[in-house]
Amino acid sequence: MVLMYQSTRDAHNKVRASQAILQGLASDGGLFTPTDLPELDLDFEQLQAASYQEVAKLILSAFLDDFTEEELDYCIQHAYDDKFDTSVIAPVVKLGQQYHLELFHGATIAFKDMALSVLPYFMTVAAKKQGVKDKIVILTATSGDTGKAAMAGFADVPGTEIIVFYPHGGVSKIQELQMTTQEGSNTHVVAIKGNFDDAQTQVKQMFNNDNLKENLAQAGMRFSSANSMNIGRLVPQIVYYVYAYAQLVKAGEITSGQAINVSVPTGNFGNILAAYYARELGVPIAKLICASNENKVLTDFFQTGHYDKNRTFKVTTSPSMDILVSSNLERLIFHLLGNDAEATKQLMNELAQEGQYQLTVKNQAIWDLFEAGFASELETAADIKRLYDQTGYIQDPHTAVASAVAHAYQDRCQDKGPTLIVSTASPYKFPRVAVGAVTGQEVVDDFQAVTDLHELSGLALPKAVKDLQEAGVRHQTVVAVTEMQAEVEKRLGV
Ligand SMILES: *Cc1c(COP(=O)(O)O)cnc(C)c1O
Repeated sequence: MVLMYQSTRDAHNKVRASQAILQGLASDGGLFTPTDLPELDLDFEQLQAASYQEVAKLILSAFLDDFTEEELDYCIQHAYDDKFDTSVIAPVVKLGQQYHLELFHGATIAFKDMALSVLPYFMTVAAKKQGVKDKIVILTATSGDTGKAAMAGFADVPGTEIIVFYPHGGVSKIQELQMTTQEGSNTHVVAIKGNFDDAQTQVKQMFNNDNLKENLAQAGMRFSSANSMNIGRLVPQIVYYVYAYAQLVKAGEITSGQAINVSVPTGNFGNILAAYYARELGVPIAKLICASNENKVLTDFFQTGHYDKNRTFKVTTSPSMDILVSSNLERLIFHLLGNDAEATKQLMNELAQEGQYQLTVKNQAIWDLFEAGFASELETAADIKRLYDQTGYIQDPHTAVASAVAHAYQDRCQDKGPTLIVSTASPYKFPRVAVGAVTGQEVVDDFQAVTDLHELSGLALPKAVKDLQEAGVRHQTVVAVTEMQAEVEKRLGV
């Protein structure tokens, strides 16, 4: 069976995997989404012995079925190598009664590395396969982590250019330095006087601007996306759910077939959507817990079916989740509506025009899989302190949101089932927040906080942070939201 990716907004817009990866976003504004998942027989007795790379091969070959075996081997071997500081790539750590799936062992110490270390290889292989000679321009909006992880993957990759927009004042100091010190002759970093939603909206508009696309084509260039709108981001994220479950079986924490819950700190809904697909493939997951910070548009949505972005945008201590328009939710909506592109398009038009929509008819079985909750700033800090006091382990604020929400859910529903907390960043990426939560004292300087964090946790300083202390700032441009397109045109010379 050939796997097709269909636009969530047009049933006639169907492409193979390599085309979906190259295009990033469908030209009708929708997202390429599989309507039928590949059939896999996941045998966890066997999978517990498999390496991360072997699990990756299994999942990726099922989803990217127009890639050859050699092509996939090439992508996987180059992506999941010693850029990661542990050979297991994604360790599962037991902390008291909870399990953390640590996804921050890659080059930029956030979970975005899990997919963005492999995406550049997918992209260049797909371009070759499709006979595309154009230079590929990666246009990316970031809430803090995608930008750096994408640049780490694409820096100096021949035939590519990458432009990253991030909210000025909306990311942590370490996140900002990671981006502004980025090297590579093909990298561009631009801060905007706006928030992540502004950046993402403008980027989507540029993708669908025919005039701009035409000018680009004339100059031998085309856009693609490194955001989780790209299926090439989403598919590699399914891998670690399969791998983590196998690791839990291997460690004797669960028996093969036993259901677990997963709690995912959520912003753009990419990570949790990958968990949903993992469940559809056969990973025994009972509840998908969607954890938000004070920007709790998703909590409200899962409680009422009413999505409403018309509210005040908050800058929180978990900035990578400061998002009110959650792009990948569109894919779940599409599935909730029985893969009905017309109905999805209607709701997405309402969202664009009114900033809200009400989901009335829906697939109840899918709906019931999700639990949702949010953690306030105080609850997030309290959870960092609780876990530190109990185990000596310091978690980053995003992970703490997922942990706090999971605990609240377990208390509320008396659900004692094993729960996997998805740990999306190293605490070293948010050292002031992590240290402040543990000591109750404010630290003003980020590098002082790094030192304090090292002393409190005993955790080795990641290379990503060490390198920052010597790196020079190379990118300093700040533009208004309305100037983003002009900036792109200027940088590309079109
Ligand atoms: C991007 C990010 C998230 C949110 O993930 P989504 O896939 O956008 O829902 C959570 N935590 C961290 C640290 C991130 O970088």
